[in-house]
Amino acid sequence: MDQDYNLVEMGAQKHIALIAHDNRKEELVSWVKTNKKVLSHHFLCGTGTTAKLISEETGLPVTGLRSGPLGGDQQVGSRIAEGAIDFMIFFWDPLAAQPHDPDVKALLRIAVLYDIPVAMNQSTADFLFSSTLMDTEYNRKIIDYEKRLKQRAKQFREGTLRDETVG
Ligand code: PGA
Repeated sequence: MDQDYNLVEMGAQKHIALIAHDNRKEELVSWVKTNKKVLSHHFLCGTGTTAKLISEETGLPVTGLRSGPLGGDQQVGSRIAEGAIDFMIFFWDPLAAQPHDPDVKALLRIAVLYDIPVAMNQSTADFLFSSTLMDTEYNRKIIDYEKRLKQRAKQFREGTLRDETVG
């Protein structure tokens, strides 16, 4: 049902969030160094420690949010929902549980929901960054939340809002 979706334009300059768990920070910093030239064409932000390390090690401007365990992942998720972040490089740790695992899961869910490109390892980041779409506009396909809200409010008034209806 195409009418239930909106196309949201990503500009040629992307708003990229950079996040790495502790065991993968070195890997991300090294990847950023290799891709510094391309990254310098975009707007960068990141969770607190990751952002600080990257800006210190590469000289790139990276807006720092809260540290991940202190709510940084939730801030990134919130910015994705608001349309202020449209691209994410997130090197999460597949071998260690994190105190903020629920936040990580929530962030990955929001990234899928808002149809943003996400790289969780170096090879995906390399493939994404070699795409011609990095330098052009792109239309993401996002659920029409205003329409869904209206439908849900109407169903609520009519008494037909069922438990399995989401969004
Ligand atoms: P950090 O947070 O960049 O502040 O270390 C990352 C995370 O653990 O999600």
